Amino acid sequence: MDKQMDYGEDYKYIPATSVQSGSGFEVLPDLYQYTVQIVNVHLVGDPNADDGFVLIDAGMPRSANMIVSAVESRFGENSKPKSIILTHGHFDHVGALIELVEKWDVPVYAHELEMPYLTGQESYPEPDATVEGGMVAKMSPMFPNEPIDLGNRVNLLPSDGTVPDLPEFRWIHTPGHAPGQVSLFRDKDRALIAADAFVTVKQEYLYRVMTQEQEISGPPRYLTTDWDKAKQSVEKLAKLNPSVAVTGHGLPMAGEELTENLEKLVGEFDVIAKPAYGKYVN
Ligand SMILES: [Zn+2]
Ligand SMILES: [Zn+2]
Repeated sequence: MDKQMDYGEDYKYIPATSVQSGSGFEVLPDLYQYTVQIVNVHLVGDPNADDGFVLIDAGMPRSANMIVSAVESRFGENSKPKSIILTHGHFDHVGALIELVEKWDVPVYAHELEMPYLTGQESYPEPDATVEGGMVAKMSPMFPNEPIDLGNRVNLLPSDGTVPDLPEFRWIHTPGHAPGQVSLFRDKDRALIAADAFVTVKQEYLYRVMTQEQEISGPPRYLTTDWDKAKQSVEKLAKLNPSVAVTGHGLPMAGEELTENLEKLVGEFDVIAKPAYGKYVN
C-alpha cells in the first residue's frame, strides 16, 4: 500500500505575489511557463503534437487549482502530465505536489541528493533572513523549510542523465542552491530549464519580484547555502551557451541578451550573485 504523503508541519500559504501570477508565456511551441505567485512552473510538450507533456516543478503551497487550470487550458480538459520532474525540493517548487499527485497519479522524479528533503528525512537549512537583500529575504523565516514526505511516490532520475518522458532533454546537476538541484537542457535547440541555478529577477527584493523587473541574478540568496558550488553551476550552464532559458523565478531570457547576461554573471559572480554578508557566506 502507498504510504501517506505529508507536507511538513510548517507548510502554509505564503502571501507574496507578482504581476505575472496566474499568467502563462509560450516560450517555445513546446515550452510553456506559468507563474504561480512568485515562482514558475514549466510545461514541456507541444499541445498540437498530441504526444503528451511533462510538468516541471509544482509551485507554491495551496496552488494546485491554479496549476490544474493552467494545464487544462493549455492541453485540454482532464489532461494530465506523463510525469512531474522536480528541479529541487524547496517549498516554492513542491507546494502543490501532493494534491497534484493525488489527482493525476503520475510518477515524480528528482535527483538522489534531494531525496532526504522529499521523503521527510531532513529539513533544509533555515532560510537566512540576515542575508544582504530586501523584503523577501527578510520575510524568508516564514517560508517552510521542513521536508515534504512523498513516501514511495518519488523516483530517482536515471543516473545516465536522461530525463523520463523527455527524450530530447538531459539533466545537469547544478548544486549550490540545493544539494540535488538539476537543470534540464536540450542540445537540439539549446533550450535550458535552469531551475534556481540562476534566475532573471532579484528574488530577494519584493518590489522587483512584484514587478518581475528583469535582471540576471544568482540563485535566490536566502536559501542558497553553498556559494562555491552555486558559482560552478552557473559556469557549467553558461558553457552550454543556451539560446533560451527559463528559470524558477523571473521572465524567460533568450538570444544575445541571455549570452551577455550569463557572461556577466559568470565574470562578476562574486559581485552580482554572492551576498556581501549572510550566514552562508564565508
Ligand atoms: Zn529554490
Ligand atoms: Zn525557487
